[in-house]
Amino acid sequence: MKPLHARYPFLADSRAAVEAAEVDLVGLVREDGPVVSRASERVTGALREGSIGDAHRSTRVELLSYPVARVLVSLVDERICTRKYANAEASRAISLFSTSRNDTTELASARTERLSLSELLAEFDLTDAVDESQDGYRVAVGTYLRLVSDLWGDEWRLVNRTLADGEVFIAREELSGLLEEAISQRVSDGLPLSVPEGVAAPLEDRVEEIRKTLAEMDLTREIDTVVPERFPPCMKALLDSVQKGEHLGHHSRFAITAFLTSIGMSTDEIIDLYMVNSGFGEEMTRYQTDHIRGETSPTEYTPPSCATMQSYGDCVNKDEICEEEINESHPLNYYEYQLDEADEDELVDWREEDGEAITPD
Ligand code: SF4
Repeated sequence: MKPLHARYPFLADSRAAVEAAEVDLVGLVREDGPVVSRASERVTGALREGSIGDAHRSTRVELLSYPVARVLVSLVDERICTRKYANAEASRAISLFSTSRNDTTELASARTERLSLSELLAEFDLTDAVDESQDGYRVAVGTYLRLVSDLWGDEWRLVNRTLADGEVFIAREELSGLLEEAISQRVSDGLPLSVPEGVAAPLEDRVEEIRKTLAEMDLTREIDTVVPERFPPCMKALLDSVQKGEHLGHHSRFAITAFLTSIGMSTDEIIDLYMVNSGFGEEMTRYQTDHIRGETSPTEYTPPSCATMQSYGDCVNKDEICEEEINESHPLNYYEYQLDEADEDELVDWREEDGEAITPD
């Protein structure tokens, strides 16, 4: 088992390395040792923070925890759990891949084997479907449509793309997004697995723990109270930008819209809010909001975690609640904490007032 396998456990080579090691899976899960702990951490971290957490120092533990994590996800057997887990695995893999590509120091190359772009493309049978061009890449249209089918954002829609000779043009930095999606599809491929009783029984407690995490998230999604002054600072700032009619990037627009749907706002209420400025056409806003809500898409989207908000520069004005109470985990945790802390009579739902424009402060 090589470090490269542990870094990218979804590769066919990594899977072959696990098979060649002839690991006794039943014995491994009965032992409930570091492999199972790390597997459980991969899944709960994905649910709570959108991250599978830091790699274990042992290559063997890190690599074996991946198939065990897929078993755990299969036993939980909830679509949102599978999706969030696959996305977190893909996000970590792409981040490692990008870091290693940008790290040109001799030390780095001596220390770790690298995965090249051509190897990664070959892994997903993309070699013939992706051609490098002067400013980016050209992707065969069928492959493009398959990879973007679950991606949110107008910029991925075919009508907003340059299409020529059956190929779609993408900018250089957008290739990571497509590869991340390919990895996510690979991770969730075949899930849920059919798990024999001898493997499932010793994992019952771990599965229960993951279900509990999911249940906590469901509670969060049932908040259904709109008190803008209790919003986390990041969402207050985004809302402020919306109301000033400032242009928001699609990630920011996604974040605030998914936050508002998650706390119980209807599409019409969000449209009213966004129509405060002229930059949001009603039709487009309705399309985006219904898509996020899961009415016109197979997925009900939740707002991004703090880690994702930070990576897109949307985490602003962090305060002590962010740092000390919710450990920079999730904007919804911040809001839930604020609602729990407030006196009941302080919480006046914006919708019970007279429908004036929301003012965060
Ligand atoms: S730490 Fe999280 S909740 Fe706080 S501002 Fe940043 S993204 Fe928002």
